[in-house]
Amino acid sequence: MFMSIYWSEKARLLQPYTPGEQPKFTNLVKLNTNENPFEPSPRVMEAMHDAIDGDLRLYPDPEANRLKQTIADYYHLSSSQVFVGNGSDEVLAMAFATFFQGKNNLLLPEISYSFYPVYCQLYDVQAQLIPLDNDLAINPEDYQHAQGGVVIANPNAPTGRLLSLEQIEQIVLANLEGVVLVDEAYIDFGGQSAVKLIARYPNLLIIQTLSKSRSLAGLRVGLALGQSELIAGMEKVKNSFNSYPLDRVAQAGAIAAFNDEAYFRQTCKQVVENRQWLAEQLEALDFNVLPSAANFVFASHARYAAELIYQRLHQLGIIVRHFKQLRINNYLRISVGTMKQQQQLIAALKTILI
Ligand SMILES: *Cc1c(COP(=O)(O)O)cnc(C)c1O
Repeated sequence: MFMSIYWSEKARLLQPYTPGEQPKFTNLVKLNTNENPFEPSPRVMEAMHDAIDGDLRLYPDPEANRLKQTIADYYHLSSSQVFVGNGSDEVLAMAFATFFQGKNNLLLPEISYSFYPVYCQLYDVQAQLIPLDNDLAINPEDYQHAQGGVVIANPNAPTGRLLSLEQIEQIVLANLEGVVLVDEAYIDFGGQSAVKLIARYPNLLIIQTLSKSRSLAGLRVGLALGQSELIAGMEKVKNSFNSYPLDRVAQAGAIAAFNDEAYFRQTCKQVVENRQWLAEQLEALDFNVLPSAANFVFASHARYAAELIYQRLHQLGIIVRHFKQLRINNYLRISVGTMKQQQQLIAALKTILI
């Protein structure tokens, strides 16, 4: 690792997030970063081509107003209740900077999206890590009176476990002193969004992404939804950082994605069906598979260590995700793929688990 005297103290101490491997070879079965196995809507492709042929010489709309209005209409909100950014990772960073920066006692599940602790470092947030319960679920009772706010992913990552809308409301209501950020990256694969609670709770912020359920991980579009006062704070931070986080192509593609509801529903339904098949096949091979409401499953094997299975699969050109973290180091996170990819995975597992 490089280190330089020119780096700030802060930069020297940072421990950045490590994204899942993005291999160069294309003949691999890539089931490690929860990308959607299906192409984006053809209407998205068309809209993006049109945007390229148009006014690329000119800056995009810094406010992304058409996109915000499209999302507002979709969720029955006003456009002042919508924030957009360059992927939800960036939107999360803006939210941490706006609501949690410098605070103590931010409640985070001990096992969750591993980017959250990285933002805590970056923005000097003291997090309190709350263990999951015995079956790796979040217990809403554990999240009360957080002075610094609460961050949870629903469904949680990398477990896939879902909280009901009632449980989310319980957490929001028990923490009115701080912002409750609900990261809904995977909500479209079987959960109920907390969007309908926004009108009643001034401390609720929801973050979503087009990377998973709308097949646009490569486009980098994420969004936050909440009451106008929360969103206005995020706009202030965003306008102190980058005026144009979303380019013309991304804005056009994202609008088209929200306008093709039929395609969205069809591909989400297919992912849910494939997930069901994958879980059944894994169980038949003696895996314990956690109930998942996401586009991945989290599974551990009765006899074989997860790390060993991970390595053997890798040698066979099949990439899944293994986390070395305590409590989950005997699990594999496997993204839902096409039926063909999933059949290749199961066939490979049958040669490994003898
Ligand atoms: C994938 C993921 C994100 C990041 O999504 P991008 O919009 O691609 O940056 C955020 N939160 C969770 C929990 C995720 O799994």
